[in-house]
Amino acid sequence: MNTPEAIAARIISVGDELLLGRSSDTNATRIERALAPFAIPVRDILVIADRIDAIAAALERTAPEDLVFLCGGLGSTADDVTRAGLAAWAGVALEHREDIAAALAQRRRRRGLPVLSALAGGDPQALVPAGMTPVANPVGSAPGLVGRLRDRRLIVLPGVPQELEALLPAVLAASERFGALPPARRTVLWRTAQLAEMALANLIEPVRERYADLQWSYWLVEWGVDLFVRGGAAQQPELAAAAQEIDALLGDAVYGRQMMSLPRVVQELMLAQGKTLAVAESCTGGRLGAAITAEPGSSGYFLGGVVSYADAVKSEIAGVDSSTLAAAGAVSGRVAEDMAVGIRRRLGADYALAVTGIAGPGGGTAQKPIGTTWLALAGLDAVWSGCCRYPGDRERNRQLAVAGALDSLRRALTGVPVFPAAGLSWSRPS
Ligand code: ATP
Repeated sequence: MNTPEAIAARIISVGDELLLGRSSDTNATRIERALAPFAIPVRDILVIADRIDAIAAALERTAPEDLVFLCGGLGSTADDVTRAGLAAWAGVALEHREDIAAALAQRRRRRGLPVLSALAGGDPQALVPAGMTPVANPVGSAPGLVGRLRDRRLIVLPGVPQELEALLPAVLAASERFGALPPARRTVLWRTAQLAEMALANLIEPVRERYADLQWSYWLVEWGVDLFVRGGAAQQPELAAAAQEIDALLGDAVYGRQMMSLPRVVQELMLAQGKTLAVAESCTGGRLGAAITAEPGSSGYFLGGVVSYADAVKSEIAGVDSSTLAAAGAVSGRVAEDMAVGIRRRLGADYALAVTGIAGPGGGTAQKPIGTTWLALAGLDAVWSGCCRYPGDRERNRQLAVAGALDSLRRALTGVPVFPAAGLSWSRPS
């Protein structure tokens, strides 16, 4: 009847702040991503108020074939009523769990907070609707809950995004154990940078057609495009064969085969090779340095840089000759190269990256349309530069410029051509 294969997810996000426009429901996206390996479609997403009747009404709309996610409202203040709403809808008691209360008390003591006394009703986070199983929260206090009530498969999660993210693997594993999920499908991932989504799709189309029974998906992410290919247990030989063909086609456009960010990949290469980096940024306005330093451990290789937005700063600090600026224009290969060479010398780094471009929405010309961006990489005895015409708006163009700069460094460090030939999204005007 309700085979795990037939299930679809329903996500119920609980929180007044989501209805008042103070937070957006990003948790639903996190859940959708976590469900992808199980190939479980999401039937709908509902955002509701922190009210017992709203929670009960939302649960009433669900059906036995649904996998129901209920997120938010697991805190310990009076407005956190998800546990009570769930218990009321299911007609079960809220049981006080000594083991959870003891763990919560220990956590509060460690943080120097008063322990909620049993006289005052104890910690509401130690209450569990009868029939549900708590799952320990590795980064916060409220445990997740999994189980079946009124024939529904339920997963209850805290609203704080980091807590929800940290708990997702454990609640999905617990749900798998009690048969609420189909077996996870094997997924193969390629993370690509500097390839437009259509270019990637066209490149691999013959393979996709040959293995059309596998599940293919493309995701536009901060650093480029991710390609996922999934197959069920019986499709492992096809998946392996398709993966081999994709490897050959994508080659060095792939910066990762695991969920690791491009800055992280670059960091690991730089640390392994014991090299240092400086940056000179124009249109990215510090975003390149921010992406690099978002990774813990970046101080092991990143020295610093300059946001050389104005021409005067490009010459005075990044060391670009003002005659070069006048002759070639600020968005040019020569200026990008000079910025990289100049900042590398000034900071005494092994490598330097430079970015100068027209992010939009204004500033484009016939020769240099919006999105025109020059990237340069200077090393000890060479300097490379490449031009890209990014197709996005200001936000996306700046993001792509950061990814392009980091990827060119990744390419230099792995010994492949720094700015690949035409055919990818790159072109180097002669
Ligand atoms: P707490 O212990 O903080 O009360 P909780 O499980 O009760 O945890 P909420 O109070 O519902 O969670 O939400 C805490 C914070 O998490 C909110 O202020 C909001 O910023 C964020 N949040 C809640 N739900 C979502 C959501 N669906 N998407 C993104 N952020 C969310």
